[in-house]
Formats: sequence, C-alpha cells, structure tokens
Amino acid sequence: AIWNLGSINADMIYALPHMPTAGETLAATGLEQYLGGKGANMSVAAARAGSHVCHLGAVGPEGAWAVTRLLEYGVDTRHIAQLDVPTGHAIIAVDPTGENQIILFPGANREISADQVGAALSAASAGDILVMQNETNMQAEAARVGRDLGLKVAYVAAPFDAAAVQAVLPYLDYLFLNEVEAEQLRDATGKTPEALGVADVIVTLGAKGARHYDTTAGTTHDVAAHSVVPVDTTGAGDTFTGYVLSGLDRGLPMAQALAQANRAAALMVTRKGTADVIPDLKEVQDASF
Ligand code: ADP
Repeated sequence: AIWNLGSINADMIYALPHMPTAGETLAATGLEQYLGGKGANMSVAAARAGSHVCHLGAVGPEGAWAVTRLLEYGVDTRHIAQLDVPTGHAIIAVDPTGENQIILFPGANREISADQVGAALSAASAGDILVMQNETNMQAEAARVGRDLGLKVAYVAAPFDAAAVQAVLPYLDYLFLNEVEAEQLRDATGKTPEALGVADVIVTLGAKGARHYDTTAGTTHDVAAHSVVPVDTTGAGDTFTGYVLSGLDRGLPMAQALAQANRAAALMVTRKGTADVIPDLKEVQDASF
C-alpha cells in the first residue's frame, strides 16, 4: 500500500474580464471548483494506477465534498481528519488571455497533528511506501516514524523549501525534484542532488523527460519524454510521481515504473484539468505513443 501525507485543496477558478488592480472591485464572470492540491493529485494518480492508497490529510467543515471526490476516485479516505479550520484552497484568477494569479490558503493542510500521523502509520506494514510533499505540516515527523516502521519513504520537494527538504533527507529512500527544484537544492546544499545520501533520486525535466540516479549502483538512467501536443501541464508532475510509486508498490522494477509514469504524464499534458482527468492504467497502456 501507499501512504500519502498530502494536501487536499479546493481549486476555485474565477474567470475575470482582466486582472484586478490594487483597490479594484471586480465581478467574476464564472466560477469552477475542482479537487486539487499536489497531495490529492498524487493519491488519485497512484489509485488510478492500481495501488491501494491511504490518504493522510485534513479538511475543514466544508471539505466533505473533497473527501467524497477522493473516495469516488478510489482513494482510501479513512485517515483524513475533519478539523475546525478552513479546507485548504487556491483562489485562481484567470483573465481572457489565460494568464493567472493564485492565492493559496493552506488551512487544514497545515494543521495535521503528530497523533494523527502516528495513529495512521501504525496501521501500515513494513515495505509499504510513504510519500510526502511540502504542502502539509508534519513531514519530518512522518518520515522519521515511517523509517522506524520499515516503510520506504519518498519526498517530493515541492513547493521548494530548502529547510524542509533538509529536515527529511536523512529518512528518504526516494527523492523527486523537477529541474528548478534540483537547481535550488544544489544552491542550498552546495551538493548535487545525487550526492545527498538518498538511494534513488528522480529529476523530472518537463518535455525532456526524466532522469533517475541510482546512487547505490552509481548509475544514471534517462527517460525520453513522449512527443505530444501539450494542452495543460498542470498535474503532470503529480501524475508522474503517483505512477512511479504505484509501479514500485505493484512490484515493478524502477525502469518499468518510470516508463509507465512517463506515459501517464505525457497523456496528462494532453488533457485540461487535474485530479478529475488523471488517466488510469488501462488508458496509459492503450495510449497511441
Ligand atoms: P512539474 O510539473 O512537477 O514541474 P515536469 O514539468 O518536469 O514536472 O513534468 C513531469 C513529467 O511530465 C515529465 O517528466 C514528463 O514525463 C511529463 N511531461 C511534462 N511536460 C511534457 C511534455 N511537454 N511532453 C511530454 N511529456 C511531458
């Protein structure tokens, strides 16, 4: 199974005639609400890929719909707490040219307690995978508990925060970074990401694919991206990570897990939307590239 200590957000997308300026009151012409948050996206991706995914997170009083949505998408939601603080949300303003401005309110995502983490992970089995990103609190605590319980611990260094990555580094088996985050980590530590003592480091490179460093064997493996016409790249990274971890969880060797993830992410960039449109394993296998 996969345990995902992850964010759950309501993405509120407001269509605006133009971007508001300071002091301006502006009526939106439309509102759409979607399930979002890197954590939720990764849970949906890994569940659609065929894994049992236990999402460890929190929502507020008005967040029941997000939990229902995760459940509908095949995620085990019994370890999602309902707290008395607002559900995490993103207020996304989009103008007619497609330009956007985003206000992110972490809310319940950053109010997860050590007790909640401990209680959830006590139900995990050695060999399960624990994954985290940086949109919740409790990452270092969870990583330490996970390592003690014999879980494989994975971390996605997004949104990037040098201190947060460094706090979890000693506990990690897998580290995921995009190209920018890899550079930021290099600047913060003075070392290349593959020299930080993590066994497997995966750097995603957008339209250039991905690179895997097996630092135990000292080998590097490049995965070329599939050639697709990008429509919307949001959620591509989360889909990639969810699929890699699900592949490993289902017993695939890393090279095959990466190949499946690379196909899933390529399909994802051809689709508008995030959690709602993440492809399942059959669609990934049947894709015509
Ligand atoms: P993030 O969105 O987290 O910054 P990337 O942009 O590196 O992540 O993309 C993650 C993965 O999505 C890539 O490793 C690749 O597999 C796939 N991908 C992203 N952009 C494209 C693209 N234009 N064409 C094909 N695959 C893509």
